[in-house]
Amino acid sequence: MATRTLRIGLIPGDGIGKEVIPAGRRLLEALPASLGLKFEFVNLRAGFETFEQTGAALPDETISVLKSDCDGALFGAVSSPSTAVKGYSSPIVALRKKLDLYANVRPVKSVRSPGAKQIDMVIVRENTEDLYVKEEKTYDTPEGKVAEAIKRISQRASSRIATMAGEIALRRQKIRAAGSPSIHTGPLVTITHKSNVLSQTDGLFRSTAREALAAGRFSSVTVEEQIVDSMVYKLFRQPEAYDVIVAPNLYGDILSDGAAALVGSLGLVPSANVGEGFAIGEPCHGSAPDIMGQGIANPIATLRSTALMLEFLNEEEAAALVYAAVDANLEEGKLLSPDLGGTAKTEEVVQDILRRL
Ligand code: ATP
Ligand code: MG
Repeated sequence: MATRTLRIGLIPGDGIGKEVIPAGRRLLEALPASLGLKFEFVNLRAGFETFEQTGAALPDETISVLKSDCDGALFGAVSSPSTAVKGYSSPIVALRKKLDLYANVRPVKSVRSPGAKQIDMVIVRENTEDLYVKEEKTYDTPEGKVAEAIKRISQRASSRIATMAGEIALRRQKIRAAGSPSIHTGPLVTITHKSNVLSQTDGLFRSTAREALAAGRFSSVTVEEQIVDSMVYKLFRQPEAYDVIVAPNLYGDILSDGAAALVGSLGLVPSANVGEGFAIGEPCHGSAPDIMGQGIANPIATLRSTALMLEFLNEEEAAALVYAAVDANLEEGKLLSPDLGGTAKTEEVVQDILRRL
């Protein structure tokens, strides 16, 4: 069997990022040889500590190595100073721009437990436009100040994000078929919008997404749509109904934090920043200064982010193995980190999951 070598950039960043990114690396190294995968790692810098040491939160070298020399990357977390620091801005936001990582993908999955509602969804958030173009202005009127912001929606961005959602739905179906049990029977994409009020902007998102998902290769995917407010209601009442959700930037931001709250700890929720042929896995949590240095950070968000990165490198089988090992650890419930009510250290959780591969 041919071996595929993947070069992965490792960007631990600050705080617990330094404790969890090494777990992602070990996970890749521990994958069974039968998968035919080899990994090479490149250590890269970014974050507040890097800013203090070098004057740049995202050194040019980090960007150029990722662009020219990596197939994918893992990003830990970066501390954001509590008050604005001159010259400092978030490196992950800059990375998304520089590498055109136009999608933020966030799977949210609950632990299978008897009687509890099961959740197994992924939110696919457009990441380049909508209100985040940050074109705002304030002006004076006789009645006082007025502020305005531009909400920009383009056919191009809406089409590519909907296409990605369709592809994710198909891939999730493949991963289920590869033995990762799920509550869903077939691929489903729900388009989220508010086109009853914003008929032009959200209207364009809706119609473009519909059109993209009508492509022949998505013929097995069921496509639904839902107005964002009623979506929030249903997300809390009936979260098991969702498989893949696709949304413009702002709704996606709100829905993905809301959905993450449904499954307990931030330490469980992964994400990926995805562009054309490149993906950065990133746990949803921050640098967690309150627990850093204690060896108790939950590594699962990072391990799942690592699997998600593998999915976007078309290694579904490897990803399915990781998801199953994590699920088995959580279902058994013996080695859990403190955020989940257990007493296990990061290292013990990592070892338990690697053993299950
Ligand atoms: P930042 O500014 O870097 O986002 P923060 O203070 O907002 O830092 P978060 O990392 O966002 O902290 O975490 C919020 C809370 O969740 C903290 O109490 C933190 O300890 C907890 N938490 C976050 N990630 C994990 C994890 N992987 N394991 C355990 N607890 C975590
Ligand atoms: Mg935070």
